[in-house]
Amino acid sequence: MRSCPACGTEYTDKAVVCSDCQASLVDGPAEATPDSSVEFVRWERVYGPPDQVAALMLQGVLEAEEIPVRVEASTMAAYGALRSSLKADSWGALLVPAERAEEATRLIEEYLQGIDADPPPSDDTDANA
Ligand SMILES: [Zn+2]
Repeated sequence: MRSCPACGTEYTDKAVVCSDCQASLVDGPAEATPDSSVEFVRWERVYGPPDQVAALMLQGVLEAEEIPVRVEASTMAAYGALRSSLKADSWGALLVPAERAEEATRLIEEYLQGIDADPPPSDDTDANA
């Protein structure tokens, strides 16, 4: 018997990863191998990108700072018909671990301000000075 260290679901010996949480299974029942090293991440929504391009761009910005990012589209194929009734005002959501949410929010704000601001055309000459 094998079991998932994260959720405790038991599997046959043929199973390798948990089908629910993709964690590597361990030998034996879950009770016999308590694994406190498994971290449960609490994800917090930090931004609602207007479209997928913005979502992926900001995901790149945050991942460059080594912040794990989850992108969730509010328009899922199976639920597309529900979208209007959910009053979705954005394409989806960016989620980061709660302890990085403040940092992520600041990075996103800085990034968006950088887009809105008219970049000074003298960037190149500054670098040469
Ligand atoms: Zn599991």
